[in-house]
Amino acid sequence: MTPSVPESSDPWRLNADLHSHSSWSDGVLSPAELVRRAHGAGVELFALTDHDEVGGVPEAAAEASRLGMPFVAGVEISVTWAGKTLHVVGLGVDVDHAGLRAGLASIRAGRDARAREMAQRLERLGVPGAYEGALTHVSNPALLSRTHFARHLVASGVCAHMDEVFRRFLGEGAPANVPHAWARLSDALGWIRDSGGVPVLAHPGRYRLDALLRDTLIDEFREGGGEAIEVVTGSHTRDQYREYARLALRSGLLGSRGSDFHAPGESRVDLGKLPPLPDGVEPVWTKVGISSLHEVGA
Ligand code: AMP
Ligand code: MN
Ligand code: MN
Ligand code: MN
Repeated sequence: MTPSVPESSDPWRLNADLHSHSSWSDGVLSPAELVRRAHGAGVELFALTDHDEVGGVPEAAAEASRLGMPFVAGVEISVTWAGKTLHVVGLGVDVDHAGLRAGLASIRAGRDARAREMAQRLERLGVPGAYEGALTHVSNPALLSRTHFARHLVASGVCAHMDEVFRRFLGEGAPANVPHAWARLSDALGWIRDSGGVPVLAHPGRYRLDALLRDTLIDEFREGGGEAIEVVTGSHTRDQYREYARLALRSGLLGSRGSDFHAPGESRVDLGKLPPLPDGVEPVWTKVGISSLHEVGA
């Protein structure tokens, strides 16, 4: 049976965590371990949103169902828009939808060649063996990401912490960063909507966009069926919670809340530990979490 949200709790005040990663992408916990950690932290509505991959959803859904924790099947799609990388989360997607699965497979296909190119650049910068090193940190080799390279560079002592890796080597504009063409925004929005999901623009405060470009993005996102933006996320500062709450209200978008948890001790915010959405922002889960909890594989 699909678990329902407890009647006693005010849906606007739910401890919802709608952005997280398992070892199917660049998280370190298995889907079941991640769900148990979320449940233990008091999360009342949880979404697994692996990068470009829905393979972990059945296991997460089964564990959430066992624990009686309402669960939303999700994904975080990598998009290239105006030459920049953006992430679009899909909440409440049907993970068996053929169009969604084919779209995600097409994005994953480019990752290995990109990873080899990153390793070549790292070698020229005096860091050999990074491809093989990154592979030792990945459980799903189709999803080799910069995070796995970063973990390897920290574990092997090249850098002191992940931030240093992105600053010195892998962040936008850094010397081992390999520009990549991800999905088109309109395609990502289409896959999410066609599979029954609600598109959410992930961590908008992370994209370096001027006001004009940001407004253009929001317009295109809405025209393609986008319905929400992340307001309270592990990637935003407190000032950005307020800034993106205002943007959501002004643009008629729902707000989402998610830690973007990847690994214990590594992620800035742990599961279920974010402040609530600012007053007035309508939560995306009034639309997706409660009405379209997908029971997957459970
Ligand atoms: P990729 O999809 O291979 O481009 O990798 C992107 C991932 O790198 C993101 O999902 C984050 O998990 C991680 N990432 C990006 N910037 C940073 C940073 N400054 N510190 C730690 N992790 C980061
Ligand atoms: Mn990530
Ligand atoms: Mn992201
Ligand atoms: Mn994420």
